[in-house]
Amino acid sequence: MKLLRVCVIGAGGAGLAVARHLTSQVDIFDVSVFEQASSLGGTWVFNENTGIDERGLPIYSSMYRSLRTNLPKEVMAFPDFPFPSEWRSFISHEQVLKYLEEYASHFNLNKYISLNSTITGVHPITNGDSHNPKWEVVITNANTKESKSRIFEAVVVCSGHFFDPLIPSIPGLEYFGGLVMHSHDYRDPHPFQGKLVIVLGAAASGQDICLEIAKKAERVYLSHKGNLPCKLPDNVQECRSMSFVSSDGVVHLDDGEQKEVDAILFCTGYNFSFPFLQSDCGVEVSDNRVTHLYKHLFSSKYPTLSFVGLCLKICPFPVFSFQAQCIAAVLSGKAKLPSEEEMNAEEENEFKDKLPSGLSKKYAHLLGEKQWDYMRCLAQLAGVQPLSEAYEDLYKYISKRRKEFLMDYKNDEYELTSNGKWIKT
Ligand SMILES: Cc1cc2nc3c(=O)[nH]c(=O)nc-3n(C[C@H](O)[C@H](O)[C@H](O)COP(=O)(O)OP(=O)(O)OC[C@H]3O[C@@H](n4cnc5c(N)ncnc54)[C@H](O)[C@@H]3O)c2cc1C
Repeated sequence: MKLLRVCVIGAGGAGLAVARHLTSQVDIFDVSVFEQASSLGGTWVFNENTGIDERGLPIYSSMYRSLRTNLPKEVMAFPDFPFPSEWRSFISHEQVLKYLEEYASHFNLNKYISLNSTITGVHPITNGDSHNPKWEVVITNANTKESKSRIFEAVVVCSGHFFDPLIPSIPGLEYFGGLVMHSHDYRDPHPFQGKLVIVLGAAASGQDICLEIAKKAERVYLSHKGNLPCKLPDNVQECRSMSFVSSDGVVHLDDGEQKEVDAILFCTGYNFSFPFLQSDCGVEVSDNRVTHLYKHLFSSKYPTLSFVGLCLKICPFPVFSFQAQCIAAVLSGKAKLPSEEEMNAEEENEFKDKLPSGLSKKYAHLLGEKQWDYMRCLAQLAGVQPLSEAYEDLYKYISKRRKEFLMDYKNDEYELTSNGKWIKT
C-alpha cells in the first residue's frame, strides 16, 4: 500500500504527540515534522531575549525565568508517558522541556523532525476531487531562507498560539510615558523594581506574574473584571478594567477611578495566527475563532487538514494525545467522520451553546469543564481507552485549590495511585 504522506507543522507538545501516534503506524504513514526553531519543545524552550532573534525571526517562547507549571505533573502528562516520579508536582519550565525531549527520544521521533524549517505556505490542490485534495506545502530554511515545495496527502497544524501578543486597543495609550510590556516579553520582575505597576488581565499568566512582580514592585494593581476569591499579597490591589489613558499619562478605569503608575503590563493573551495557510484552505480565522472545524480539530471542508492544540483551558498534553489518536484513526480510515454539513451543524450548535454564558467569539475554543466529555468523545471516535478518571478528579481539586489559595497551591504534592485514584502526599 502507498504510504500516506503527512506534514506536521511544529515540534512542540502537540506536534510531538501527533508524531508519536502516527509514527507508531509506519506501514500507513510517512511522517515529516517541520519545526522553525533549532530545537524541539515549542513554548517550553526558554529564551532570555525578547524581540527578534539572530535569524530575524520573532522570539517565540513566552516562558519566564521562574515559571513553575500551574498544573501538577500528574495531570499534565501524556497518558502513555508519566513524568519522573521523583520530581515535585509543580515543575519548572526546564523540567517540562526535558520531559518533552525524553518523550521524543523514547518514541524515536527525532529522526522525523526537520529543524530550522519554517512552513511558509499551505495550499490544497483539488484536481477535481474536492473532498480529497493533495497539499502543497512550502518549506523555508529558517537560516538560508531558501524555499522548496513538497506534496502531502495530509497536513496537521501544531504551530501553537502563545506567540503573537494580543494588546487591546486602549485609547490614549500613546500618552503613557512609562514602561509598557506584554507578558510574552516578561522574563523576570527586575524592570518593575520599586514601581507602581498595573497588570491587565487575571487569567493564569496575569495571576502568576502579578504575584512575582509584587515581590519587587511598590504596588501592583491587578486590573480585571470581578474579584479573586483568595488572599493576595498586601501590596496587590484589584481594580476594574482599564478604559483609557489621558493626555497627562494617567490611567483611567471603567469605574471612573484613576491610577498614576510607572508601568503597564498586558497579560491579555495572544492572537491565533496561521500566516502559512492560504485563503483556499477551507478554514477561516477571525477573532481567535477558527472555522469550519469539527471538534476543534478537523477541517470540515478538507478533513485531511487538522489542527491540534487550539482548545483553551485544558490539560494540554492529554488533549493533544487524544486529538492525535483521532487524526491517526481518521486518516487511516479506521474512523469515519460525518458529512461536511453535519460537522458544520455540530460546530455551530456547540458555539451557540456557549454564547448564553456570556463568552465572546474569541472563547469559541474554550473547553474548561467540557474537556472531559470532549476527550471521552475523541477516545470513542479513535477507538482507544479513555483517560483515567484520576486526571479529571485531580484537575477539579487543583482548580478549587488555586482559586482559594493562589499564593500557596504550588506547594502541594500529589501522587497517582495504582488503583486509578490520586492522593495528596
Ligand atoms: C507562559 C505559559 C505557561 C504555560 N503553563 C502551562 C502549564 O503549567 N501546564 C500546561 O500543561 N501547559 C501550560 N502552557 C500551555 C502550553 O502552551 C502547552 O503546554 C503546550 O506546550 C503547547 O504546545 P503546542 O505544541 O500546541 O505549541 P507550542 O509549544 O507553542 O509549539 C508550537 C511549535 O510550532 C512551531 N511553529 C510555529 N509556526 C511554525 C511554522 N510556520 N513552521 C514551522 N514551525 C512552526 C514553533 O516554533 C513551536 O516550536 C503554558 C503556556 C504558556 C505560554
